Amino acid sequence: MNVAFLDRDGTIVKDYEDSTWSRITRPEFIEGAISTLRKLQTLDYRLIIITNQYLINEGYISINQYHQFTSLMLEELIRNEIEITDIFFCPHAKREQCNCMKSKTGMIEAALTKYTNIDLSESILIGDSPVDVELANQMNIKAFKIGLPYGNSTNVTSLYDVQNKL
Ligand SMILES: [Mg+2]
Ligand SMILES: [Zn+2]
Repeated sequence: MNVAFLDRDGTIVKDYEDSTWSRITRPEFIEGAISTLRKLQTLDYRLIIITNQYLINEGYISINQYHQFTSLMLEELIRNEIEITDIFFCPHAKREQCNCMKSKTGMIEAALTKYTNIDLSESILIGDSPVDVELANQMNIKAFKIGLPYGNSTNVTSLYDVQNKL
């Protein structure tokens, strides 16, 4: 299967300063995100979210808060006929030096273990951070970088803009 690996914060939903996340209870979708996810789906990409959530182990949000936010996000996506195949998240603090925090490859490796029919050569990764591009480059996945250009990636102005460059 072909996968669109998607960063969450700053790509699908709005991102905030770490300290602000403590009081965020519901997702605010970025303009164009819903229509682009739908387009990716019609192009036969399965959608897998990979998200760094060091906010959890660094104490900015609780694990419950993370799961509640995720439920609300998925409900809204389902209302828009968007099916997220899976979400992989890294809850670790930066000091824990885990192997899943992007740009480390652990979350994609976990996806490859769980879904053995993923064709990485036909998959893409979309994110707004240099770590997203670094991860994609390491795994030889075509990267789309939202915002400032970085590394070996196709630069886009928003998730919406990806639609024009697929
Ligand atoms: Mg991001
Ligand atoms: Zn981790």
